[in-house]
Amino acid sequence: MNALLVKDVRIVDADHQLAGDILIRDGIIWALGRKLLPPRGVPVLQGEGRTALPAFIDLHAHFRDPGFPEKEDLLSGARAAAHGGFTCVSLMPNTDPVCDSPEVARYLLAEAKRHGLIEVYPVGAITVGLMGEELSPMEALAPWVWAFSDDGKGVEDHELMLRACRKAAGLDRVIFPHCEFQGLSDRGLSEELMVARDLWLCRRTGCRLHLAHISTPGSLELVSLAKERRLPVTCEVTPHHLCLTREEGDYSVNPPLPDREAREALVKALKGGPIDAIATDHAPHTPRDKAAGAPGISGIELAFPLLYTRLVAPGVISLSELSRYLALQPARILGLRKGLIQVGYDGDLMLFSDEEFTASEDFFFSKSTNTPLLGTRLSGRVWATVHRGEVIYLDGAVKGRDFRDHREVI
Ligand SMILES: [Zn+2]
Repeated sequence: MNALLVKDVRIVDADHQLAGDILIRDGIIWALGRKLLPPRGVPVLQGEGRTALPAFIDLHAHFRDPGFPEKEDLLSGARAAAHGGFTCVSLMPNTDPVCDSPEVARYLLAEAKRHGLIEVYPVGAITVGLMGEELSPMEALAPWVWAFSDDGKGVEDHELMLRACRKAAGLDRVIFPHCEFQGLSDRGLSEELMVARDLWLCRRTGCRLHLAHISTPGSLELVSLAKERRLPVTCEVTPHHLCLTREEGDYSVNPPLPDREAREALVKALKGGPIDAIATDHAPHTPRDKAAGAPGISGIELAFPLLYTRLVAPGVISLSELSRYLALQPARILGLRKGLIQVGYDGDLMLFSDEEFTASEDFFFSKSTNTPLLGTRLSGRVWATVHRGEVIYLDGAVKGRDFRDHREVI
């Protein structure tokens, strides 16, 4: 029997707060309560002094596999995810080859299964080779992907995007646009114009839309209007757009870091605004590519500590609210029975402590350490990550060859 008892923890999710034990059996949360008596032989994770949250679900990450193993690959990405408290990651198609064929999507799923750490959810390309010229074979891709995106750039051709939205609606798949028109001097406007166009296409076609990394107050306003009209639209914002500003120090990332005012608007939108999820846009790069100007942040491992330190610890949002954005809402968008610590939900947990640490280079399991947070003191260190009742990260080690298993066995 696959089972695990997590003992003596503070349990927090989007709906509840309690203290006690969590029993997971056959990958599912089986019981919650005080002093649960496990069946004989069940391993125990002694969680005293720690908080358990539903494990996080990242709707937006780049694991660079196939094609760029010097930046990241599926194994290093999965290890980084486990270290960050994530058990499910949606992978963007800008790999080499691009995920514009069922073969690439099937490769991602098979490799993730072979590694046995996390679940991956591939995103297929909207256009062949992300060239913005010809639709990918969306019908053939649909069984393997939950959404379609040309992330990295916007689809500029209106007719092509209209056809993509119609097709996605017919296939019951999500269009996941990176909103940015090229050639506008006002970067915020280039995002907002494409958000407006894609919301209108959503209205005309009935296609489900999930907007990637929105970053301006104008985009929030447009999404709010669309939600008032009950359009099937969701959106995400990244930890770095919520926590960092360009005034404090600019860093090459796309969309660019917000100014102070825009950041405040994004944070405010977490309190009853139109934001559905926080997604990392984990974008690992080698130092050489970064020096050459490649935009992006290696963010999946520091996402929670950053959000915890900057938003939860000072009381800007509650831990329950953060859990809603990192677990419950992404689970709903993907259609998973995850994201809450309740009987019948998948046994996916992360446990953390208030321990402070410095985000130094040797902190990372990712192959890349491109982040403006190097050297920063943060708290909310992830202590353990549990995927369907199996401990995949514990106290500095990811499940694998050198995994030191600290679990006590009754
Ligand atoms: Zn993007």
